Amino acid sequence: MSRAILWFRNDLRLADHPALTAACAAHEEVLPVLIIDPRQHEASPFGFDRSGPFRRRFLKESIADLDAQLRAKGSALHVRVGEPAAELAHLSEVWGTRVVHAQQLYAWEEQEQERAVAAALDLRLHAPNTLLLPGDLPFTVEKLPHVFTAFRHKVEKGSPVRPLLPEPDRLRSPAAWKGRALEDSALPVQASADDPRAVMHFTGGRTAGLERLTHYLGPERHLSHYKETRNALLGADNSSKLSPWLATGALSAREVWHAVKHYEAEHGANESTYWLVFELLWRDFFQFTAAKHGRDLFLRGGIARKPPTGNADLRRFSAWCEGRTGQPFIDANMRELAATGWMSNRGRQNAASYLVHDLGLDWRMGAWWFEHLLIDHDPCSNWGNWQYVAGVGNDPREGRRFDPERQAGMYDADGSYVRLWS
Ligand SMILES: Cc1cc2nc3c(=O)[nH]c(=O)nc-3n(C[C@H](O)[C@H](O)[C@H](O)COP(=O)(O)OP(=O)(O)OC[C@H]3O[C@@H](n4cnc5c(N)ncnc54)[C@H](O)[C@@H]3O)c2cc1C
Repeated sequence: MSRAILWFRNDLRLADHPALTAACAAHEEVLPVLIIDPRQHEASPFGFDRSGPFRRRFLKESIADLDAQLRAKGSALHVRVGEPAAELAHLSEVWGTRVVHAQQLYAWEEQEQERAVAAALDLRLHAPNTLLLPGDLPFTVEKLPHVFTAFRHKVEKGSPVRPLLPEPDRLRSPAAWKGRALEDSALPVQASADDPRAVMHFTGGRTAGLERLTHYLGPERHLSHYKETRNALLGADNSSKLSPWLATGALSAREVWHAVKHYEAEHGANESTYWLVFELLWRDFFQFTAAKHGRDLFLRGGIARKPPTGNADLRRFSAWCEGRTGQPFIDANMRELAATGWMSNRGRQNAASYLVHDLGLDWRMGAWWFEHLLIDHDPCSNWGNWQYVAGVGNDPREGRRFDPERQAGMYDADGSYVRLWS
C-alpha cells in the first residue's frame, strides 16, 4: 500500500493545490497533517508574542475549516504542535511512510524547516502559492531583477498563469486515521467582540475567503473601481481585503487571477481590473525576493546589506505601537491596527515611514509589531515591504519619507478617519 504524508503549511485549501494533486496521483493513501511550530508564535525579541490575538483566531478558524473540507472528502486533519522535522519523523514511524508532500515556502524559517525535514525524510516540494510559478519566470530566481518595475516588465511579456487544479472528489486515508484537533492551549487567545469601528469582520478559512472573493468580484462590481478606491482608509469594499486568505493559502493567487479574468469577460476589463493583478505581482515579487535573499530579508542591513541605522528607543516604540506619537494620522492608523489587526495599505506605508524616518527607530521593531498584529501577516510581504520603506530593500530611491500631514490631507481630507480612531 503506497502511503504519503501531506504536510499542510500556508496552503489551507484543497482546490488548486499542487502538493495535494501530486500526493493523490502518486499514492493510494494520503495523511493530511498540519504542524504548529511554537517558535513562530512565541516571544519576539521585544517580548510580545510573534502571533497576536487576531492572527491566532483567524488561523484557528482556517484550520477548523480545512478539517471540515477534509472530512467532507472522507479524510481528516491531524494537527500537531512542535518542530516539523520531529513531528513528521514521529508520524512517519507510526504510519510507515517516509514520503512527505508539501508546498514550498520561501521565507527563511520555512526554508530551514524544509531542510530539517529533507534531512530525515523523503520531502517532495511542490509549487508555491504565487501567481506565476518559479519555473515559468523568464529568469531563474537567483537572477530576479532588483527593482519591481523591471520584474513586472519581464513577466508581463509572457509568463503564463497556470490553469487551476481541480479539487479531488475523495481523499483516501487509512481506516484508523482519525485526525486530531488543535488544542486550545497551543495558541491561547481570549475571545473578544469585534471593535465596532473595524473595517470588516475577517473569518478564517476557505469558505469565508470564497465568499469575500465572490462579493468583491460580484454584481456590485467593486473591482471595476479598485484603482480609484484602493487608497481609501475607510470602507470594506475599497480594496479587495483578500490578503488574509492569500496569506493562509485558503485562496490561491491563481484562483484570484482566474476570477478576475472571468469578471473581465463578463463586465469588461479596465485599469482597475488590471491593477488588482498588478498588486498580485507585487506579492509575487516579495515572495521571489525572499527566495533569492534568504536570511537577509530579516537582517537589519537588509537585502541591500547597508550599514545599520535607527535605534531601539523603547519609549518611542511604545508610543508608536499604542498610537500616542502625537501625529494624529499615524496614531489613528496604529490604533486601528491594535484594535482590529487590520490597517490599509496607505496606513501601513505611512506608519512604517514614520517609525523609520521620523522616529529614527530600527525598522525591524516595526516589522515585529506588524507580524504580531496583522491578521494577514505574511513574512515575505511584511518584511519585504518594511525593508522597502526603510531603504534597505528593493526601492531604487533612497530615503523615501511620507509626509503624514500631506498624506492625511490627500487621503483623509475631511478628517473622518482620524476622528473615528481618536
Ligand atoms: C509595512 C508594510 C507591511 C505589509 N505587510 C503585509 C503582510 O504582512 N501581508 C500582506 O499580505 N501584505 C502586506 N503588506 C502589503 C499590503 O499593505 C497588503 O497586502 C494590503 O493592504 C492588503 O489589503 P487588500 O487585500 O485589500 O489589498 P488589495 O489592494 O486589494 O490588493 C490585492 C492583493 O495584492 C497583494 N498586495 C497588495 N499590495 C501589496 C504589497 N505592497 N506587497 C505585497 N502584496 C501586496 C495582497 O495579497 C492583496 O490582498 C504590507 C505593506 C506595508 C507597507
